[in-house]
Amino acid sequence: MKRNFGVFIALLMCAGAASANSFPDVKVQKINDRLYALLGPTDPPNKQNLGYMNNNLVIIGNKGVILVDAGSHKAVAEHIDAAIKKITSKPITHVLITHHHPDHHLGLEYFDGAQVIASEFCAKQITDNGRSMVSFMSRNTGLSLRGAKLVVPQEKLAPRSRQAMEIDGIKLELISTETAHTDGDMMVWLPEDGVLASGDILVHSINPSFRDGNLKKWVGVVDDILKLPLKTIMPGHGPLMQRQDVVEFRALIADFYKVVEGIYKAGGVEADVRKKLDMAKWEKLGRFDDMMGGNINKVWLEVEEANF
Ligand SMILES: [Zn+2]
Repeated sequence: MKRNFGVFIALLMCAGAASANSFPDVKVQKINDRLYALLGPTDPPNKQNLGYMNNNLVIIGNKGVILVDAGSHKAVAEHIDAAIKKITSKPITHVLITHHHPDHHLGLEYFDGAQVIASEFCAKQITDNGRSMVSFMSRNTGLSLRGAKLVVPQEKLAPRSRQAMEIDGIKLELISTETAHTDGDMMVWLPEDGVLASGDILVHSINPSFRDGNLKKWVGVVDDILKLPLKTIMPGHGPLMQRQDVVEFRALIADFYKVVEGIYKAGGVEADVRKKLDMAKWEKLGRFDDMMGGNINKVWLEVEEANF
């Protein structure tokens, strides 16, 4: 009996070790000869995906690789890097971080020695709240990330600014937007390719998170995105987008704001939002149960403040 119990424990440990090593596959999508999108799963970080749940853009320069976003922790970054090594042998020299949410930057410690660029706000958030982001990721994935090292971006983009630059033969523009998904969103625009890495300002086939943003300003930021000569958009989460997908996303979030504002101005209550919103459109998008309650509450407070 005692021996059987020992075997049982050993089997359990084996199962634990196997799942801890198996991230979901990286879906590689070639955009052109120098740009590849690595598309991850879209669920929130959990014990199944182990924190691998977002997108990365691989930009191949003359001598190295510029990577957009770094994944949720060191092992996710290693998983992403293994996929990059199948595309090119060039080293990762630069990592551009779209915003401060932990799934986008906690993997930075893996890319030791790379030049890291993000918005000033994002850098400050990592400095001030990085440890609690590690705890969040640890709790959600069931992994012990206690030893994780935080990396604060060395180069910081000023709020609401656009910076054109050339890195390793690649012309790109870093765009720090008005508050949209967060107060410090940074998009990466590649004018020669017509490709935009939007971070979570745009997500495809999932509910966006309004929690740390401002929905009214967000709609304006998407209007600005639509002024760019877009060919392909890599959203923060979900499949690649075309211009029409962005138009539809804009309509969806603009309607959300309009519905909440209409109810508020007519003297209604927050609970009315679920009745008036076109729920069928939102329900068919992923993460509905995780996001909808918080999103309604956030926009309700936003509208209340704007009309106070
Ligand atoms: Zn985010």
